[in-house]
Amino acid sequence: MDKIIVLIGAPGAGKGTQARLMDERRGIPQISTGDMFREMKKADTPLAREVQETMASGKLISDDLTYQIVRERTSKPDTAGTYVLDGYPRTAVQAEQLEQLAVEQGKEIQAIEVDVPQDELFKRLTGRRSCPVCGEIYNIYSRPPKSEGFCDDHPDAKLDHRADDNEDSVRTRLDTYKTNTEPLLAYYERSGRLKKVDGTGEIEDIYGLIEDLI
Ligand code: AMP
Repeated sequence: MDKIIVLIGAPGAGKGTQARLMDERRGIPQISTGDMFREMKKADTPLAREVQETMASGKLISDDLTYQIVRERTSKPDTAGTYVLDGYPRTAVQAEQLEQLAVEQGKEIQAIEVDVPQDELFKRLTGRRSCPVCGEIYNIYSRPPKSEGFCDDHPDAKLDHRADDNEDSVRTRLDTYKTNTEPLLAYYERSGRLKKVDGTGEIEDIYGLIEDLI
């Protein structure tokens, strides 16, 4: 049966990095609600402005809007088979909505926790930079680009620093994860659908652990 792979982990745990590798190497489409909202907020509409404000503060977008974009995105032909959700679900309501979607799509849910201790997350997030062209993720502390501020593969591309990777928003995002999203681990565990990987260490090693599970 095709799967909906759900990556669960705090902001900065590396869900996006791992989902991107699954996409690149295994052709499993990466569906990132964060990326979709970042795209959406560029428009010049009241809704886009609301999304922008909510994201910048580190709070969550409403469950219904989030479900709507996930549902729409996963109805495209490329997600007919197994796909990976990166950043969804993040609340108990979203988890329920996803159950419904999985039934409709005839897929089974497989949750994978990417576990990283809190103190490391803070540094990962505030130091994070990404290439606007290829999406490659750097970190000024642990994975600096060869030339400061620019992508290794796109030397003309000045790296982005996400608006919500500032200290205040990072605190809110980590708190929100603890309150709203962490309880989902127990939810998937109870139904025997949770697996866990250690998210510290080398990106390739973590990817290897995830590959063994899927
Ligand atoms: P991310 O890139 O996954 O860290 O997401 C960035 C921001 O997008 C979050 O802080 C939220 O404001 C919003 N967002 C992403 N995914 C969700 C979701 N599943 N539910 C609500 N808001 C979300």
